[in-house]
Amino acid sequence: MSLYKPQTVNCNGETFKVYLSEEKIRTRVADLAKQLNRDYSGKKPIFIGVLNGAFIFLSDLLRHISIPSEVDFLKLSSYGDEKVSSGEVRDLKDIDANIEDRHVLLVEDIVDTGLSMKYMVEKLEQKNPASIATVTLLHKPEATRHDVPLDYVGFRIPSLFVLGYGLDYAQEGRNLAQIYILDEGESRSDHT
Ligand code: 5GP
Repeated sequence: MSLYKPQTVNCNGETFKVYLSEEKIRTRVADLAKQLNRDYSGKKPIFIGVLNGAFIFLSDLLRHISIPSEVDFLKLSSYGDEKVSSGEVRDLKDIDANIEDRHVLLVEDIVDTGLSMKYMVEKLEQKNPASIATVTLLHKPEATRHDVPLDYVGFRIPSLFVLGYGLDYAQEGRNLAQIYILDEGESRSDHT
């Protein structure tokens, strides 16, 4: 069965072009998992995925995890239908697991300003885990304003809106197998 991976895509009236190919993502996700298997050897971490965006990344990552582990999810308010952050974070769903004395791996799709990640780390710290580490597939370093440690980063990307592989634009585009970037008609170096 073939994956959905066009070269360009039109979503809500905007054009996006491929930025990270399926192969590039697959290789990097496997590398991150290898690093986690090594770093958490002898421990049983709990992966906490941030809904909705991280569901594809986390499911691919987990299939390379060979140490004992558990999974839970939390959900925050998203960008809504916009391409810029509202600057506000709201809880929509808390985790169900008891993470006291557990090693937590908080898994995000993307860190932009860093506000959401900082908020979640501070909130989870109140539940007294043994440790918390952050994992994000994408990071926009130029946009990051909030000081938050990022322990495992898949790709550093420019501050442009991206789509696909779980990331949406007004709830569309999560099903794309590659990561697409807004085509502003400028020539930028891409990583495909
Ligand atoms: P932050 O709080 O770091 O500013 O934003 C984090 C959240 O904003 C991410 O979990 C994601 O939901 C959303 N976000 C940030 N940048 C992008 C982007 O380029 N594309 C999409 N689809 N969502 C983004």
